[in-house]
Amino acid sequence: RFITFEGIDGSGKSTQSRRFADHLRAQGEDIILTREPGGSPGAEEIRALLLTGDPDRWSPETEILLFTAARRDHLEKTIQPALAQGKTVISDRFADSTRVYQGATRGDLRGIVDSLHSLMIGREPDLTFIIDMDPQTALQRGLARKSGEDRFEEFGLGFQETLRHGFLALAHASPDRCVLIDGNRTPDQIASEIAAYA
Ligand code: C5P
Repeated sequence: RFITFEGIDGSGKSTQSRRFADHLRAQGEDIILTREPGGSPGAEEIRALLLTGDPDRWSPETEILLFTAARRDHLEKTIQPALAQGKTVISDRFADSTRVYQGATRGDLRGIVDSLHSLMIGREPDLTFIIDMDPQTALQRGLARKSGEDRFEEFGLGFQETLRHGFLALAHASPDRCVLIDGNRTPDQIASEIAAYA
């Protein structure tokens, strides 16, 4: 099965995806823990391009193509082979991030995101945990570990609010695969709620 973790920056999704992977491994499940943008050698190269340099050198449309190219490579080289071997794949971000980051925040680009998804990806996770988080707290956490190498970390509170509402809308639109998790609790409390889905 294919499981994804989504949420705004600083929501704790990386910690929780790692903890869920550890939990499933302890139960004997064969797990591949991966992430986006990235998750395969080619997609990690695209990630490095996306996260560094002058953000204005590409239009929003070109940026969507790059995220989709990275996802296609990740799917071909990492996700599909692992699923074919019967493994469980856990990804820290997937297509929902593009729907929200590129689709919900930059005008009317959601149609392009959706068209490219059906043309080039065509796969949804079986289960998605959307970790909902107070943007102010999430931003503080994000700033605390700011590397300075990631241009996306420059975005402020208003942007995080928009993202949060994008993720909430997505959770409500796809209740069959999305589980909304209250991220305003301790990591242990959140991990034990998620562990119930093992
Ligand atoms: O989740 P992670 O911190 O690895 O993501 C790297 C950066 O890329 C984040 O700052 C995130 O905001 C940004 N991003 C984005 N659009 C996506 C996925 C991630 O802007 N579709």
